[in-house]
Amino acid sequence: MIALLRSRVGLALSLVLSAALLSASVPSATAVDGLGDPVFPTLGNTGYRALAYDLSFEYRADTRTVDATAVITARLSRTLPSLSLDSLGLNVRTVRVDGRPARFTAHDEKLTVTPARPLHRGGTARLTFEYSADPRAALPHTGWVPTPDGFAVAGQPASAHTVFPCNDRPSDKARFTIAVTAPDALLGVANGELAQTERLDDGRTTRRYVSREPMATELVQVSVGDYAVRERPGPHGLPLRDVVPTARVAELAPALDLTADQLRWAEQHLGSFPFESYGILPANTDDPAAFAFTGLETQTLTLYKPGFLRQAEPAIGSHMMHELVHSWFGDSVSPATWADLWLNEGHADYYGLLYRYERGWPDAWGHTTLVDRMRMLYGLGDQWRHDAGPVASPTADNLFDSQRYTGGALVLFALREKVGAATFDRIERTFLREHRYGTATTRDYVRTASEVSGQDLSGFLDDWLYGRRTPPMPGHPDWTVAPVSDAPAAGARAAVPGAAEGSGTI
Ligand SMILES: [Zn+2]
Repeated sequence: MIALLRSRVGLALSLVLSAALLSASVPSATAVDGLGDPVFPTLGNTGYRALAYDLSFEYRADTRTVDATAVITARLSRTLPSLSLDSLGLNVRTVRVDGRPARFTAHDEKLTVTPARPLHRGGTARLTFEYSADPRAALPHTGWVPTPDGFAVAGQPASAHTVFPCNDRPSDKARFTIAVTAPDALLGVANGELAQTERLDDGRTTRRYVSREPMATELVQVSVGDYAVRERPGPHGLPLRDVVPTARVAELAPALDLTADQLRWAEQHLGSFPFESYGILPANTDDPAAFAFTGLETQTLTLYKPGFLRQAEPAIGSHMMHELVHSWFGDSVSPATWADLWLNEGHADYYGLLYRYERGWPDAWGHTTLVDRMRMLYGLGDQWRHDAGPVASPTADNLFDSQRYTGGALVLFALREKVGAATFDRIERTFLREHRYGTATTRDYVRTASEVSGQDLSGFLDDWLYGRRTPPMPGHPDWTVAPVSDAPAAGARAAVPGAAEGSGTI
């Protein structure tokens, strides 16, 4: 309860700050619905915040569809005659508000619910949705990952609302409990800790999972498949839980066994692991189009393409570190808006690369030090700003461009060169502590950097984050930036296998 109150205060603060940031530096995005996220302006809804999601999914093996119930507890910040949620592709049958049937209409990826009486400011409302969904449905975008034996979920950035109706904005973190019912030949899993197992008398089992800490909707994981669960204690007894397709356990074990040492390294740099457990969920599909990432940091249970994990450690270790680091940057501290994505990806790549060179694994260009890699990236700086915009000014089309990944790592490297390694580490730890289990904006990071270093870094970091030209690199006056070419696709991005995912830790 104390943690909940603290995080709500932090969220309220972040909201004010993000509104200030939006008005200061981002062209105003007007939208009838939505909150004006700089990247996805129609995402999210006004007038309430979600406190808790209680989700139940029943997988039907015969039709390969899902019957679901979502119970959402919302706190009203305004008196509303009706309220909206984000929703796409869900076949909603009934909606109740505080137990009474309510009218509802679906339109433009929104579900507008009108109860018999207005919902009053300051009160809470309990909204119950009964619906079904088909993970294989063709939608404009989807968070479902269909597999031959079930499904997994990859909601980032803006598709969680194809899996459950929600206030699908990264800054509205909430409590989650997720129950998954599956035939006994299969296993249902979700984020968090297994709290209850109930065998039904029709050959199915319901497993209920509770997430100890708040979670953003984009980080939800629910999966059904022919899985084996590998549980063991990790560093200082932290429970490790991998959920692995049964037929792939032996071939993936070498990769999965790397987690414990990676956790030790990450904790040395970032402090204690923030959640109740960590693990990896290789989806049971080799379809390269199943989802758009190599790995996705769904909270406490990172989703992976299994083929990636079949490789030897030097080929996968730095990217596994990237995903693990998201537990701190991305999950514990979530971006307040999608313009803040570089806070996730820049940090994940920065530490992923640090780990790579420390372990002595040359990167795809043969670099063996972070400085050499950063010098190369620096040379591409103007081209990347030309092609994909400044690091902290993404659009929906270039959101996951390398500019948010190694481009973000280059900003962090510049900051470290400016303030020194010891101060940089204090900035990182302070930022993680101040925003733990909450959300943060780019402005929050700049403020923490200035406060911890004792110097006003807003001009320095604004040039790096928002400038159209690459600023001078502190401590490296000899580094040069190549002139901008109008030829499409900057070579270093396109030439690397897997670079479409943006991460440059390879
Ligand atoms: Zn990432």
